[in-house]
Amino acid sequence: MKVKLLRFTADPELLCGTAALTSTKSGSPSETFEKMDLEHARRVIKRVTGYGHASVIEHASFTFSLEGVSRAMTHQLVRHRIASYTQQSQRYVTYDTIEKYVTPPTIERNIEAKRIFDDALEKISETYRKLLERGIPKEDARFILPNAAKTNIIVTMNARELRHFFNLRCCRRSQWEIREVAMEMLKQVKNVAPSLFENAGPSCVELGYCPEGKMKPPECDVNQIKNKFQNL
Ligand SMILES: Cc1cc2nc3c(=O)[nH]c(=O)nc-3n(C[C@H](O)[C@H](O)[C@H](O)COP(=O)(O)OP(=O)(O)OC[C@H]3O[C@@H](n4cnc5c(N)ncnc54)[C@H](O)[C@@H]3O)c2cc1C
Repeated sequence: MKVKLLRFTADPELLCGTAALTSTKSGSPSETFEKMDLEHARRVIKRVTGYGHASVIEHASFTFSLEGVSRAMTHQLVRHRIASYTQQSQRYVTYDTIEKYVTPPTIERNIEAKRIFDDALEKISETYRKLLERGIPKEDARFILPNAAKTNIIVTMNARELRHFFNLRCCRRSQWEIREVAMEMLKQVKNVAPSLFENAGPSCVELGYCPEGKMKPPECDVNQIKNKFQNL
């Protein structure tokens, strides 16, 4: 799996800081933007988002390339609606080898399970190939492909939606692959726009408690998790 931040809004913190000041300044946003420095922008973002006015960070967007991830992962990803996606098409791209599948770690480390898994995938690959050889179009042959099929997808989210995405998908209740993707995305955006992602992470990092109630994983220690995300 590869997660790469391809592009993001230029000067995301200066821009969101300007947006945060626009509602209370008599001057124009362009004047505010020209005068804005990073330290001021960061202070303003912290103050205004602290009031709960999170819409000001919607002005910064981030685009990622997610490569070699499973269809199981992207099916969960695209449930997040405040985003844009473009995914490699199974109508145009042929899937024909076992390397094109993601193997979950629980299967990878269990020799017997791995053998069963690989056998099934080989059979699927073979069936898929045979269908194509018989003139079945890719768009129909793909009906045999599993959730494990690898894919590439581009996703763009603004900072507010990303924070929400991290709340849900950096949480230990989330499935391992989308959690790995979310963790890597968070690391990369924190690096380029720290004030937009201060305290970002699973809900417990922002709230100080786990909102999952009795579904809270027993191994979760909120303080430990907070530390981990602050030092990400
Ligand atoms: C641990 C976990 C388990 C899950 N299990 C299941 C499952 O078993 N079955 C299943 O189907 N899904 C499941 N999901 C997916 C989940 O239900 C959501 O579809 C997904 O997480 C997207 O979240 P969202 O709707 O909050 O956010 P987004 O789609 O990212 O939207 C962001 C926010 O915008 C607002 N919003 C967006 N669209 C609307 C709208 N139409 N109306 C009003 N407000 C809107 C909401 O405030 C929303 O929180 C699971 C998710 C997680 C994290």
